[in-house]
Amino acid sequence: MLYRHFVIILVFAVFLVHCAEWRYHNNTDLELFLKNFNQSTKSGIATKLYSIGKSRKGNDLWVLQLTATKKRKTGIPNIKLIGTIHGNEPVGREIILHFMEFLRDGYGSDPVVTWLLDNTRIHFLPNMNPDGFALSHENMCDGEHVRNNGLGGKDLNRNFPDFYHKNRIPEEPETKAVKKWLEDVPFILSAALHGGAMVVNYPFDTVKESTSDMENPPSLTPDHDVFVHLAQVYSQNHPTMHKGDSCSDSKFEGGIVNGAVWYPIIGGMQDYNYAFHGCMELTLEISCCKYPAASELPKLWQDNKMALLKYCLEALRGVTGQILDSTSRKPIAKATLRVSGKNMTFSSSKTGEFWRLLLPGNYKLEVSAEGYYNQVVSFVVKKYETNPKLTSLKILMLNSSISTTSSTTPKQRTTGTTVKFTRSITDGAPITVSSAGVIPSEDHQPPTPASLITPLEKSSSTVHQNYIFYVSLVIFLLL
Ligand SMILES: [Zn+2]
Repeated sequence: MLYRHFVIILVFAVFLVHCAEWRYHNNTDLELFLKNFNQSTKSGIATKLYSIGKSRKGNDLWVLQLTATKKRKTGIPNIKLIGTIHGNEPVGREIILHFMEFLRDGYGSDPVVTWLLDNTRIHFLPNMNPDGFALSHENMCDGEHVRNNGLGGKDLNRNFPDFYHKNRIPEEPETKAVKKWLEDVPFILSAALHGGAMVVNYPFDTVKESTSDMENPPSLTPDHDVFVHLAQVYSQNHPTMHKGDSCSDSKFEGGIVNGAVWYPIIGGMQDYNYAFHGCMELTLEISCCKYPAASELPKLWQDNKMALLKYCLEALRGVTGQILDSTSRKPIAKATLRVSGKNMTFSSSKTGEFWRLLLPGNYKLEVSAEGYYNQVVSFVVKKYETNPKLTSLKILMLNSSISTTSSTTPKQRTTGTTVKFTRSITDGAPITVSSAGVIPSEDHQPPTPASLITPLEKSSSTVHQNYIFYVSLVIFLLL
């Protein structure tokens, strides 16, 4: 008899702890969750927990990094997912925690998850605004209450340098921390998870000139094609968002919207990511209620799971490469790059690497670096139905102090890639040197044939449901 009671209590205790998964983690619990996650091990997966700084009230802004890539390998794209930039929109923080578990648990068994973790590095910042969240309340669906980073604080999504205007609002500690993070890690793809609507919002949020018109004109980026694609990947993989009318008073065709068309803002985080760091970030509005009851979290997770997974895979469509000195083979940092036809430059990282998300097609990349001849490199971005893979280049830059006569011209070593070294002379006409500086990277292999469309199985929620069933069965039998 005593034994039976003991078993019942034990089963209930385990049951309660497991159910606690579907709740909002306060700041202390969230930190504990991340620390425990960091200590959980799984063969092939590497985790790293680090803080990018502190909030106004001194709370750490924890980031958990997850990857299965090999150390020292170049060309690995960095992705980030950010939750709770607005303190009263905490669904994203919980979705991010479940997504972390989903990826870890699916690695090695789910082919899509395995491909993603084998080829990317994902950084999760679930709690960008811990001070605002600490003041917010469950079931508060609307309003600006504690949206900011605490009492007397600022809206962090208006606090970044702006592409078109000077942002006169002093930068908050959280903003500075994210800016430094972007300087340290060459992110290529990002999403900030919000609540209060059901739509994917893409840059620009800012407008060059404000208008008195009732309808705001779009404010589009030179990478509009890519942003629309990314936004559609998310909305189309969400069961309701793509229908465009998920919340009562808002209609968004296809479930996506240009930020400025919806409502222009200055100092938004996604514009800063793109214009200042070449990182393509979208604003994901994933729940009509800003802070819904915790009982709604399981459904919200199910609705966003596949969309997040497919979105992250997009970090593998485009081009990557490393820019090296043709003689010393040393990486060239801060080289300026531009995809021909897209009037937006970006830079190589400290290791001379670069990434750019692009739709399938033929492109030219313009590369310039101080002390080197400019280059124009042609390349192709292939179309992948599954197992997407970045086109990988190595670009050798010729020092401009080296003579460009034919005797010093490097031998051509390309596979259908055309490269020109150019140098401006006094009359402005470029000298073109018949040469090649691109070596296809070792990573440039044909895609693995694929059976990666396999439906995702054994998701954490399925496991969770099975678990509840078995626990209930045990309780029933014991009673
Ligand atoms: Zn928000």
